[in-house]
Amino acid sequence: LRGVSKHYQRGGEIIPVLKDLNFDIARGEYLALMGPSGSGKSTLLNLIAGLDQPSSGSILVGDIDIAQLTDSELADWRAAHIGFIFQFYNLMPVLTAQENVELPLQLTPLSRSQRRERAFTALELVGLADRVKHYPSELSGGQLQRVAIARAIVSDPTLIVADEPTGDLDRKSGEEILALLDRLNRDLGKTIVMVTHDQRAADAARAVRHLDKGEFSELVVNRG
Ligand code: ATP
Ligand code: MG
Repeated sequence: LRGVSKHYQRGGEIIPVLKDLNFDIARGEYLALMGPSGSGKSTLLNLIAGLDQPSSGSILVGDIDIAQLTDSELADWRAAHIGFIFQFYNLMPVLTAQENVELPLQLTPLSRSQRRERAFTALELVGLADRVKHYPSELSGGQLQRVAIARAIVSDPTLIVADEPTGDLDRKSGEEILALLDRLNRDLGKTIVMVTHDQRAADAARAVRHLDKGEFSELVVNRG
């Protein structure tokens, strides 16, 4: 990120959120973003993931400045490069686990059976091979988040962004999700940027940045 600022406009009011942020995220990094409620963490995550555009500045991913892309170019870029994990899972209630995981592959040239196979492999990886035909209402919170993780990795994205992935889970399910994210980072080399209020989640990441009043206060590198 180079000189990234973001404000929202609501009616005549301008709400400044992020101020002139400059920092790098290395490939293979596992970064936790912490900070008070309203400090702009989700806003920042949405910019990094190409869900929203900065008010000024550049977001360079490889050779591309995603802040310069049109909406449709950005949508294609997201589909190819980003996996999303949210606090409340954002699964489609009328689709099975398997069908939810297949969704990001809809617009790819893969055949129906290839999509099915990929989705199954992703569900297997998160330990849900025996739940593929279940609907979201038939799964526990931890299982729902594992389906969401399978959906996030099914298109083999470069970057996984997670907004409070353990925020709605009990301690044990939260630990399972963190163990899974750790494996995605260590074994599959996925770059992960995770927003969290959960100190255990922040400790599980490789490094932590604190965001406050639109600016970063410190970078803490974890051991291990
Ligand atoms: P939390 O920890 O509570 O999730 P956060 O750090 O993720 O907070 P953001 O959601 O990024 O905070 O919001 C930062 C600020 O921007 C808040 O003051 C919020 O009210 C404001 N904001 C967020 N989205 C919009 C929007 N679409 N329009 C106007 N203001 C917004
Ligand atoms: Mg938030």
